[in-house]
Order: sequence, then structure tokens, then C-alpha cells
Amino acid sequence: MPSDELRRRYRFTAELAKRAEAKGVAFLTGREIRGLRATDKGATAVVAEGPAGEETIAGDAFVVALGS
Ligand SMILES: Cc1cc2nc3c(=O)[nH]c(=O)nc-3n(C[C@H](O)[C@H](O)[C@H](O)COP(=O)(O)OP(=O)(O)OC[C@H]3O[C@@H](n4cnc5c(N)ncnc54)[C@H](O)[C@@H]3O)c2cc1C
Repeated sequence: MPSDELRRRYRFTAELAKRAEAKGVAFLTGREIRGLRATDKGATAVVAEGPAGEETIAGDAFVVALGS
């Protein structure tokens, strides 16, 4: 049985995701990050392996949060 604290964390995270999606954020799950593409100015894209095979997802900024 989850504690109140766990329920609050879940609700906070779910609400944050809902609001981000409302602002145009897309959450792409079920993908394994294989690497980053970069130029001398910095990272330009992330390379991921997903259900449709390898894909390169371009972006302006990247947060690496793959654990320790
Ligand atoms: C047994 C244990 C008990 C803990 N208890 C507490 C506690 O009571 N309180 C507390 O504050 N902290 C606790 N911690 C620490 C807490 O779990 C971590 O600090 C926290 O989970 C770190 O979050 P994170 O998002 O940085 O990394 P993670 O939670 O490790 O998330 C990283 C995610 O990245 C994914 N990932 C990794 N590589 C790739 C890849 N190449 N492609 C795609 N995905 C990838 C992983 O599958 C994972 O889902 C505990 C840790 C352990 C091990």
C-alpha cells in the first residue's frame, strides 16, 4: 500500500507531465539512449533505439538523467 508521501509525489509528477504536455512537450518512452550528436558548438541531437529502430532526435538543449 503506497504511503501518502508516495501518492503526493506521484500526483505532483503526473500533474507536471500533464502541464508540460499542454505546453507542447512530448514524452517519448520505451527508448534506449545510445549517444549524443554534437558539433564544436555543443550537442545537437540524441540518438535513441526505440520500437521503430534507431532515431535521431534534434534539440536545442539536453538534460542527461540516466542515473549514476
Ligand atoms: C535501495 C535504494 C534506496 C533508496 N532510498 C532512497 C530514499 O529513501 N530517499 C531518497 O531520497 N533517495 C533514495 N535513494 C536514491 C534515489 O533512488 C536516487 O537518488 C534517485 O533515484 C536518482 O534519480 P535519478 O533520476 O537521477 O536516477 P534514476 O532513478 O537512476 O533514473 C535513471 C533512469 O535512467 C534510465 N536509463 C539509464 N541509462 C539509460 C539509457 N541509456 N537509455 C534510456 N534510459 C536509461 C534508467 O533505466 C533509470 O530509469 C535510494 C536508492 C537506492 C538504490
